[in-house]
Amino acid sequence: MNTLLTVGSVAFDQIETPYGKTDKILGGAGTFGALAASNFNITNNLVSVVGYDFPAEYLQLLKNHNVDISGIEQKEDEKTFFWAGKYHQNMNQRDTLVTELNSLANFVPKVPGHFKNPDVLMLGNLTPVVQRQVIEQMNVRPKIIAMDTMNFWMDTMLDELHKTISMVDVLLINDEETRQLSGEYFLPVAAKKVLQMGPKFVIVKKGEHGALIFSEDDVFAAPALPLDLVFDPTGAGDTFAGGFTGFLAQTMDFSFENMKNAVIVGSAMASFTVEKFGTEKIQHLTKDELFQRIELFKKLTSFELPKDVF
Ligand code: AMP
Repeated sequence: MNTLLTVGSVAFDQIETPYGKTDKILGGAGTFGALAASNFNITNNLVSVVGYDFPAEYLQLLKNHNVDISGIEQKEDEKTFFWAGKYHQNMNQRDTLVTELNSLANFVPKVPGHFKNPDVLMLGNLTPVVQRQVIEQMNVRPKIIAMDTMNFWMDTMLDELHKTISMVDVLLINDEETRQLSGEYFLPVAAKKVLQMGPKFVIVKKGEHGALIFSEDDVFAAPALPLDLVFDPTGAGDTFAGGFTGFLAQTMDFSFENMKNAVIVGSAMASFTVEKFGTEKIQHLTKDELFQRIELFKKLTSFELPKDVF
């Protein structure tokens, strides 16, 4: 079986939306990504760190989804990363109420020996230095390396970020971050500039407006499903990344045509995550539900003009 290695936070989240509020629940970019990737026929490895307070039942939950958790370090003297966020009616914007880095503060990733030859490597949004430390521990370069990042690293560690970006094949960022990183407003121009920084593909996530994938010669637009209710957007981007990289690990086809499929699969998975709090929905996703949703994406974008109009 082909192997995906994901590196990302495993966390406690506390979320408030106009539709309700949670206690501390299971969260983290690595968690959402690995759960999304568990829908594929791949070896699904996760590297992360948690604290002494992280419940064994959450680790078991990941195990039950065939995630190999031997790369999750448990620190005996530190608490687990904790993040709290609040959304208002406009779900594209959120207030971060609390970020307690705890065990993530001095995270030095330790990639277990049997994780060092992945076909696909997904670097979740961590410091660019940590992301690079993971790449440097690989025995051979993975066939494809994807990374997520955010404006915080552009503000605080731009040089380090540039170094890491130059080493990856796919960069996933949102529209505002694409503009910030490139210094350009219009997304096609901005994406071209980002491509010149090294990646072969740039995926620009636009929340409820879908995602664009750019390569040197091509562009493809994936819609977001127009949902009646977005209940909680937390983890949508990470679910997208897990669906995208999981699909690539299973198919091992890195042509632009197949990248388009991967973007649709990632978008379909993310559309489930936002329907419930945290990982509730993505934990229980069935193949049939996923298949039906991908059909909806097809229907949403296919059309045929009558002949002889033009
Ligand atoms: P997203 O909604 O895709 O931005 O991802 C939200 C997830 O990212 C939550 O589950 C958080 O636990 C996690 N998260 C938030 N801030 C950070 C951070 N600074 N480093 C790592 N993970 C984070």
